[in-house]
Amino acid sequence: MPAPNIDTIVSLAKRRGFVFPSSEVYGGLGSAWDYGPLGVELCNNVKQAWWRWLVYERDDIEGIDSSIILNRLVWKYSGHEATFNDWLIDCRKCKGRFRADKLVDNKCPSCGASDWTEARPFNTMLQTKLGAVADDDPTALAYLRPETAQGIFINFLNVQTAMRRKLPFGIAQVGKSFRNEVTPGNFILRTREFEQMEMEYFVSPTAEHSKLVDYWVEQYLEWFSSLGLDRENLYLYEVPKEELAHYSNRTVDIMYRYFPEREKPWEELMGIAWRTDFDLSTHSKNKLDDEGKRINPDSTEDLSYFDESTKQRFYPHVIEPAAGVNRTVLAVLMDAYSEKTNDKGETRVILKLSPQLAPIKAAILPLAKNKPEIVGMAKAIKRSLQPVLRAVYDDTGGIGKLYARQDEIGTPFCITVDHQSLEDEAVTVRDRDTWEQERIKVTDLAEHLQKRLKPYPVAPPETI
Ligand code: ATP
Repeated sequence: MPAPNIDTIVSLAKRRGFVFPSSEVYGGLGSAWDYGPLGVELCNNVKQAWWRWLVYERDDIEGIDSSIILNRLVWKYSGHEATFNDWLIDCRKCKGRFRADKLVDNKCPSCGASDWTEARPFNTMLQTKLGAVADDDPTALAYLRPETAQGIFINFLNVQTAMRRKLPFGIAQVGKSFRNEVTPGNFILRTREFEQMEMEYFVSPTAEHSKLVDYWVEQYLEWFSSLGLDRENLYLYEVPKEELAHYSNRTVDIMYRYFPEREKPWEELMGIAWRTDFDLSTHSKNKLDDEGKRINPDSTEDLSYFDESTKQRFYPHVIEPAAGVNRTVLAVLMDAYSEKTNDKGETRVILKLSPQLAPIKAAILPLAKNKPEIVGMAKAIKRSLQPVLRAVYDDTGGIGKLYARQDEIGTPFCITVDHQSLEDEAVTVRDRDTWEQERIKVTDLAEHLQKRLKPYPVAPPETI
């Protein structure tokens, strides 16, 4: 049973230190969120799982970390200055402002009226100014990136030559992106500042691009199940031609059931797009238009690729899986949420996070906090585990309460040190999901836990 709605997660997240409303001491900042001690661990674990899966376990992907603020010309030639728009409309009755494409039944979400102004484009790139310049100096204008992808495209040749790569190969990047969303909301689902995990997979213009889109969809479905998402809560949306972005020939969105309580429960978790050769050509100095004119007179580089085997030069095509860190975290929290009733009839929340994502892997709990030998032994166990896994020591309540607290934040293992531990050098390991307990020798503990924490095995990639 996943969470019944996002609100259940909002309250758990605040209560237990995953996510707090941002700038709360000044009344907040609409739809901005801060990640607390457990939230930062969960986000880091999602990003690390992704990086490990793509960059370490595969042999065809490199990683980079490009700047958030790029030369403004990048956004001119990528098409974002001209077309990165949302369509705005205003309700004539209540003056509310909304995104035209997100209306349900053409009704105003605030007052229910259907009396709209004409839709007009609104560029959602967030602007800033560079340097100590006058307010009206147009040359100082810069943007906070709305996607991490462009930093990858403009580094294509750098990475390819430095790492001696041949096609097909990919470049992965994780980092913050910014969009001046018209209607942010639904907790961390839609915010103006968010984090993306994007990968550009470069292939020949004659590759089977549509098949490669299907391949990456399958790979990501597999990866999401490794994070604990139920396939039932995912749905594939083939984006219709008229809704495709200017660079895309085909896009498949993986949607997640963020709104199980609604008639339309789905919202985008990620998209997989065949971006053609649009981006590499548009940033290249040698690419000519139909009339033989350079399409980019400002570029000083040519991002084409020379294929040694065919002796041909071309602009590679790109398949792009683009996922959001925050939307993945929200889906993971919703799917992990469960409730269980104990033998006293009390209902407990158990966050059944995949062990690789759990913020804390093991909590060491002394059964008697006024017994210095037991406390000393528990603290020593915590210190000995810390180099191999994230562990905490807690003695701030009775054992029942301590277990319940760890269940609620998804800690896979609670380790109890009791009187007998002093005699037999063994501890009790309690499993979060089954509440079963087993006795393990302290000398075997680290290895025992590590074995059980092993990341879910994602099938090795088939050759492309
Ligand atoms: P939407 O249609 O929901 O606005 P999009 O199609 O514009 O999303 P993409 O440009 O495909 O989104 O971005 C890739 C991913 O980045 C999305 O699937 C999502 O996970 C994440 N993302 C995009 N915008 C936001 C946002 N405002 N807040 C949080 N995550 C976002």
